[in-house]
Amino acid sequence: MQEFSAEFSKMVNYGFLGIYRRLSIPEEDLQTRFVPALTKACGIGAYLNFKYNLKEAERRILPETEREMFKMFEMPLEEIINKLPQELINQIQEETDLYGIGALFESIDDGKGVLTEDGYEMRSNRAIYKSINCLEQMGEYDGQQIFEELCKGEYREKRVFLENPDNVYIPDNSIYQSDTQQKFIKSFPDLFERCYQPNRRLSIYRCKRCGMILREPRLGVFLCVSKKCNQFLDEKVEVEMHGAGRIMNDVTARNIFYPGQLERSIKEVLDVAIKKGTVDRYELWPGKYEGIYDTWDFKVYLKDGRIWLLDAKDVENPHWIIIDKREFLKNADFIYIVPNDKPKVYLEQINNNTRCLNEARCIRVKDLKKILEVKEKNA
Ligand SMILES: [Zn+2]
Repeated sequence: MQEFSAEFSKMVNYGFLGIYRRLSIPEEDLQTRFVPALTKACGIGAYLNFKYNLKEAERRILPETEREMFKMFEMPLEEIINKLPQELINQIQEETDLYGIGALFESIDDGKGVLTEDGYEMRSNRAIYKSINCLEQMGEYDGQQIFEELCKGEYREKRVFLENPDNVYIPDNSIYQSDTQQKFIKSFPDLFERCYQPNRRLSIYRCKRCGMILREPRLGVFLCVSKKCNQFLDEKVEVEMHGAGRIMNDVTARNIFYPGQLERSIKEVLDVAIKKGTVDRYELWPGKYEGIYDTWDFKVYLKDGRIWLLDAKDVENPHWIIIDKREFLKNADFIYIVPNDKPKVYLEQINNNTRCLNEARCIRVKDLKKILEVKEKNA
């Protein structure tokens, strides 16, 4: 997608999430409650007005305030799109399906609004539906968008790329890119746009613990995307930048990179288990690369004939595992694999919960090693 249509659809989607949230805030809190998605959407509108000089009779075309955003949604979107220069209209028509969308909200008497029929339609869009009631609407929405891009084919190739610490920073100059980086950018330009942001620092560092590029919110103040790393940051490693480049963004780091590290360690155990003879073979992400969501990460065929469905989960609160939507398979055991640093009580909370008893169990990577008779490296 080209920059304008990508930013324009972001403005519309964030704006929709934000207005929806704003309308659900009780009246007495209206003045004090801040809606980040709405502020961001107005910011994008202002940015595009400025960058593309979007004016009609000296009035800016795209909405820059909450009120203007609401007004835009009270009419079919094409009313505002038609005011844009022809080449931008073409871009929106060719690259998005926003042109045909009717009014999304309707004002009712007391200055409030409700969803229209098109509004309900918009809300049922998968990424919107999954994020609209989340506390962090935008982060969840971006994560869903990335997931949809992943599922458009070559799932495994895309995901393996994004889980590899070698790819958390990519120089813009192709001479310094690896072959896989060049291929990824060329084959999946939209996914690349969604997952990476331009680097703005003159020097960058890698977290020694997890491999991610450290964030530097204020000059000289370093943070890792994973909070767990922040006590180990004195060991950071400087990265050779080779000029301008791009850094993996937070949403991708949280949704793909970190869960991926756990998957990588499970994969290692299974590979050794095959050599040891306890595992016959396994499939990585079966179903997911065919666009089926919510399946397990590994389907493992054990030597003794049993089948295990393994799902890697690295979440702080066991609650998310307990209420996880599980896809079962007849005669197969469902097992959650969690990192080694999860305490026993964490496992017990899951394994003793009635929603998990006889359905699924939870073990750590080191427990998996033990069961599959895979020896520790240093043992
Ligand atoms: Zn880290």
